[in-house]
Amino acid sequence: MTQPRKVHVKSFGCQMNVYDSHRMADTLLPAGFAETASPADADLVILNTCNIREKAADKVYSEIGRMRELKHAAAADGRKMMIAVAGCVAQAEGQEILRRAGAVDLVVGSQNYHRLPDMIARAENGERVIDTEFPVEDKFEALAPPAREQIAKRGVSAFVTVQEGCDKFCTFCVVPYTRGAEISRPVEHIAAEVARLAAAGVREVTLIGQNVNGYHGNDAEGRTATLGLLLRRLARVPGILRLRYTTSHPRDMNDELIAAHAELPELMPYVHLPVQSGSDRILAAMNRKHTRTDYLELIARMRAARPDLAFTSDFIVGFPGETEDDLQDTLALLREVGFAGAFSFAYSPRPGTPAADMDSQVPPEVATDRLHRLQAEILRLQGNFNAQFQGRTLEVLLEKPGRLPGQLVGKTPYLQTVQLMAPPAIIGSLVKVAITDIGSNTLFGVLAESTTMSALETAGA
Ligand code: SF4
Repeated sequence: MTQPRKVHVKSFGCQMNVYDSHRMADTLLPAGFAETASPADADLVILNTCNIREKAADKVYSEIGRMRELKHAAAADGRKMMIAVAGCVAQAEGQEILRRAGAVDLVVGSQNYHRLPDMIARAENGERVIDTEFPVEDKFEALAPPAREQIAKRGVSAFVTVQEGCDKFCTFCVVPYTRGAEISRPVEHIAAEVARLAAAGVREVTLIGQNVNGYHGNDAEGRTATLGLLLRRLARVPGILRLRYTTSHPRDMNDELIAAHAELPELMPYVHLPVQSGSDRILAAMNRKHTRTDYLELIARMRAARPDLAFTSDFIVGFPGETEDDLQDTLALLREVGFAGAFSFAYSPRPGTPAADMDSQVPPEVATDRLHRLQAEILRLQGNFNAQFQGRTLEVLLEKPGRLPGQLVGKTPYLQTVQLMAPPAIIGSLVKVAITDIGSNTLFGVLAESTTMSALETAGA
């Protein structure tokens, strides 16, 4: 019997890339490649790149340099190792990667992963292969489904891409250029994938997409379904205890989705809703297509439907033309919403985006100072949010062992991490946890008396 060859997939960037990396590994398994955690003993290394952050391409070229050393070491051992570059940098740089990096054997764009087995076969024959076209066929359905053991290894909480691409064209963002126009997978294809995950032990599914609440896939009758309707369908999949989705655009938060928050117990009371700025002037320059008032009214409507909804967000400070007054508007909005947390960044230009050519770029030291002040406020609000749970009991999905012996780690409905002592047999259970202590990023607790026995009995512990 021939030994399976080994593939190492290294993910950069967001959860969508992590999902894509899993699906690439799933697709290469029937082609004879088993996954390995070590690039040094891989026959194929795939760098699944992201170009959201500054100098993304430079970082990819230095990573290729590291892989080139491993490739030379493998050759010295009489072994052939191939290097593939995938993801958004591959999509954006294309042929340039093959020109600059002689060690790279193939370049695959973000819509073409299903063609990898064929591309690898060509690369093995000495061809340097590139495929960054936006294909007509459906990548998701052409990718091999994950094997049961693969799913089990990845844990009880899984991500499923339901939508890709973006038509919003925020002036700072590269996504519409690298991931293309919005496309949505059909409802029943997603339901089948979620059912397969649930049958292998997954209990929580997070639906992901660059603009996930713009979802508009076909249902079984060929009608267009919204994300709210998709969530209702997935809540009926046996074994699925929790549903989440990310990342949303305020413009696409429609009544059906808000009603789903009010009515679906499986849909967790947590929404990541990027606002980027609290200043109408900056929001217009960013082409965000919503105002500060639109955003605040939306938060109020959603809280009316589900009063305990926790919100997190994304912020960019130092956008071209931003003044101290604009920053004050952002800080005021932050306090008015009372976010449970947020990601925040100092603006840096992305080549090819309209904002990169705007006048009045903010000096980096000013942007950095604003970022520090914004982050201090975010941390204060996050502390306030977490502090309200001291002494309360929360439902926690136990996900994995913790770092200490006997410790488990789980998530609250509001996506906070909880650490507690409990037997590993109950990983995958929903348990009640009494919160005893609050850390900066983690809650600590003990199994609540009422659920201890039932959880242990269910697990046969
Ligand atoms: S909505 Fe999000 S993904 Fe789309 S262009 Fe704006 S920031 Fe980029």
